[in-house]
Amino acid sequence: MDKIKAILDNYNLKEIVKIDPKTVRVTEDVRAACEKNDCGQYGKNYMCPPHLGPLEECKEMIYSYEKGVLFSQVHFFKNRQEYKHYDDIIKSFTKINDKIHREIRKSGIDGKVLSAGGCTLCKTCGLLEDLPCRFPEDAKPSLEGCGVDVVHLSKATGLVYNNGPKSITIIGMVLYNDEIDEI
Ligand code: SF4
Repeated sequence: MDKIKAILDNYNLKEIVKIDPKTVRVTEDVRAACEKNDCGQYGKNYMCPPHLGPLEECKEMIYSYEKGVLFSQVHFFKNRQEYKHYDDIIKSFTKINDKIHREIRKSGIDGKVLSAGGCTLCKTCGLLEDLPCRFPEDAKPSLEGCGVDVVHLSKATGLVYNNGPKSITIIGMVLYNDEIDEI
C-alpha cells in the first residue's frame, strides 16, 4: 500500500499530485515575499527567513529527495464576513501539515513536509527563547522560505492553483525517500 498516499488520504485534501523534487524551481523572489511577513513568522522561527539557510542549501535539501508530492486544500468564502477567518484557515492548514509531517516521521519514512508558515512543532520556537532548535531532524521548513515557486510547480503538474473567485487554495509539499512507496 502506498504509505504517503495513505497518510494524506486522512485529510480533507483537494488534490494530491506527484512531483520530481529535481524539477522544483527555487527563487529569491519567492523568498523575498516572506519579508512582507503576512504569516507573522518572519524572524521568529528557525525554519523561516532570515534564519533558514541560504537558498542554495534549501535547493540541495529539496534535490536530495527522490520523490515528492504536492497537495492542496481549497476553501470557499460565501461572503465578505468569512474572509475574517482567513488567518484561521491558514493556521488550520499548518496544523494539518504538522500532523502529516509527524505521521511520516513516525512511520519511519525518510521524508518531510514543507508548508506555509514555518515550523510549529514546538509551542514556542527555540529561537524566541534564545535556545537552539529542539528538533533539528524533525523541523518543518517553510515552503516559501525555501523559495519554492509553487505557481510554476502547479502549472507543471496540473495541480489547480486558482480554484475560482471567492476561494483560497493552500499548498503543501512532501519530500521523501522510500523505495517501496509508489503513488
Ligand atoms: S522544532 Fe521547535 S525549535 Fe526547531 S524550528 Fe521547529 S518550532 Fe522552532
